[in-house]
Amino acid sequence: MSSITQISWTDQTDNIIRAKVGGWWCHKKSEGCANCFAEKLNQNSFFGGNKQPYSGQPPELVLDTEAIRKWGFQRKPKKHFVSSMTDVFGEWVPRFWQHEMLDGMFVAPNQIFQILTKRPEIMLSSMDEWLSCHGLDKLPLNIWPGTSIENRRTLEERSQFLSKIPALIRFWSVEPLLEDLGDITHYLNDVQLVIIGGESGPNSRPCHIEWLESIVQQCQQSKTPVFVKQLGANAKLEGQRFKTRDKKGGNIEEFPEYLQVREFPFDA
Ligand code: SF4
Repeated sequence: MSSITQISWTDQTDNIIRAKVGGWWCHKKSEGCANCFAEKLNQNSFFGGNKQPYSGQPPELVLDTEAIRKWGFQRKPKKHFVSSMTDVFGEWVPRFWQHEMLDGMFVAPNQIFQILTKRPEIMLSSMDEWLSCHGLDKLPLNIWPGTSIENRRTLEERSQFLSKIPALIRFWSVEPLLEDLGDITHYLNDVQLVIIGGESGPNSRPCHIEWLESIVQQCQQSKTPVFVKQLGANAKLEGQRFKTRDKKGGNIEEFPEYLQVREFPFDA
């Protein structure tokens, strides 16, 4: 199922894994999942949710093979954020589903697929297996593997697995940024796009604009494309609340000038 999205770093979301009864499912993994937007949407039957929490045992799931097949027939090039409502590389997802998804991406070279996971160790082993089945040594340029990073712990842990995936474009989604990441320069050698943002929605945890600024500066110094998605709903500057009219702090015109940066690798 494809949807138009408000996520500024993509053109559409393709939720190819869904619950058979409707809605979606995922399993919370780390601090970044605490206020999971997808789980909140899934609690609401008005939006097609099944009200099951993102914990416990998965409901029966289905892979939308028809949506995958259609990728190969799309003429207009677009960026697809694949499965924004779950983690395609969750432990509960059959490996052959992941490979079917990659097969569909492989035959749609004019579409860009952004696949984001909090489980890059599974992504690495699944992609390695898929590459060797196809006699390839690298993912094609249109498949962008990415990992979520929310704090220093996940930076350390997840970036090492992502960096081992043989891809031309690997990306980080540093959202929600929950603490200052400190010196990230040596990690930047292995990533080709860094997306950053503060948390939005009810009970948003604070995001200090100085943390975002530090990442932007280090990316610019190392010539790594950086994309500032949003300041979040609880942005702080010099310890004080930084209010924006946009409730997610996602209007670039309201960002401090030094954060008005939205870059992509090449002209994607
Ligand atoms: S991995 Fe993503 S979709 Fe799954 S629970 Fe965490 S934030 Fe939600």
